[in-house]
Amino acid sequence: MYLHERRVAIRLPSVTNEASSPSLAEVIAVLERMYDPAWARDWDAVGLVCGDPAAPVRRVLLAVDAAPPVVEEALAWRADLVLTHHPLLLRAVHGVGATDAKGRMVHQLIRGGCALYTAHTNADVAAPGVSDALARVLGLTDLVPLSADSADALDKLVTFVPEPDADKVIDALAGLGAGELGEYHRCAWMVTGLGAYVPAESTMDSEAHREHVEERRVEMVIPRARRHAAIAALRATHPSPEPSFDVYELATWSGPRGVGRVGSLGTPTTLREFAMLAAEALPGTVQGIRVAGDPVAEVSRVAVCGGSGDSLFDAVRASGADVYVTADLRHHPAAELRDQAGDAPPYLVDVAHWASEWPWLAGVANRLEGAMDDAGTPLETHVSTRCTDPWSFRLPSPGGVVR
Ligand SMILES: [Zn+2]
Repeated sequence: MYLHERRVAIRLPSVTNEASSPSLAEVIAVLERMYDPAWARDWDAVGLVCGDPAAPVRRVLLAVDAAPPVVEEALAWRADLVLTHHPLLLRAVHGVGATDAKGRMVHQLIRGGCALYTAHTNADVAAPGVSDALARVLGLTDLVPLSADSADALDKLVTFVPEPDADKVIDALAGLGAGELGEYHRCAWMVTGLGAYVPAESTMDSEAHREHVEERRVEMVIPRARRHAAIAALRATHPSPEPSFDVYELATWSGPRGVGRVGSLGTPTTLREFAMLAAEALPGTVQGIRVAGDPVAEVSRVAVCGGSGDSLFDAVRASGADVYVTADLRHHPAAELRDQAGDAPPYLVDVAHWASEWPWLAGVANRLEGAMDDAGTPLETHVSTRCTDPWSFRLPSPGGVVR
């Protein structure tokens, strides 16, 4: 048997003030208030790809893609977190060996102590989200979703509480999210009335045994997902062992979230002028801007969708937009839309996918920095300027365009 000498590691105090930096878990909590993962589409893969939730985060790099140049940039800048729009691992994997580009990036990030987090379709539908940023750099105002998601399902809970206990019950329900109306909290509507009952121990219902008690009818809205928790809280705080209550499912309607945005230009312009504005407002790419429509046609109402948006043509037609700005437009859908429209709108402006989503990053950086400053745990952000658009060069047709 050998007695091994125990080596005692002495940790020197860190030169950085880690106590003032947020943990990755705290940063993620802020991001998920802005981009709730529950808003992501079923097929999507959002959230933390790698990283220790307990690790401090001092520097956050924001990028559209988790691509090799972005990982290189993050490690050179000593970022603790890379926040990307596109998922690195959208489809299921059974390993992340450093035998392919994605596995190598995961290894590089972990070795460099850098986490990776993705907000994708949950950021697309958020308000403000990816398409809001695109719309704003194009100068659009009065934005509404191009294809609105339903508002979160709500119930209305109605209960009847003796006067002295009403506030206690309202507090318990409000603690579960009841009574949230926009900027207002703990909203409840009440009216006082008279409840009548015959106590359980009474064996006969005679005038002498009938009790009357002054009660408040309390109405509060509550997220449907919290229905059972709310009923449990009501039973726990109501003085009666058998509290009386009703639950009504409220009708759903369009909410503020959704894919794409529709807005207006301050001043109508021509399709050519608008396309030139888009070319100047968006980061430069090999593709530049492609346009379908009469260059001198007037445009004022504009639909946009950051990323691939040709699945939204029906919504674009229904919106009354004069022009639709999106990316990755394919031959057949684009040709069919224009054939159907004839000389009339909607016209099409096709931009590079990366360029259409890049404007979102600056707003996220600002909001994240602001939230962490407010929490007293500041961090530093940087928006990546590495273009991850895959195209390298473009050749104009030497004989010009065939008409
Ligand atoms: Zn995209």
